[in-house]
Amino acid sequence: MATNRRCTSCGLALTARGATSFPCPDCGDAGLGRCPRCRDQSVVYRCPKCGFEGP
Ligand SMILES: [Zn+2]
Ligand SMILES: [Zn+2]
Repeated sequence: MATNRRCTSCGLALTARGATSFPCPDCGDAGLGRCPRCRDQSVVYRCPKCGFEGP
């Protein structure tokens, strides 16, 4: 799995505490990232590989 080190939603680098990254729940292949802000606001992310969208 290739880990994306940037927030999938806003593109912010995941350096801050509280940032998280995880494999796409749909294809399990692409690494998705979330910064604390997008996580807090439940911003929708989109898998760059399969197009899966989730909260
Ligand atoms: Zn973000
Ligand atoms: Zn996917």
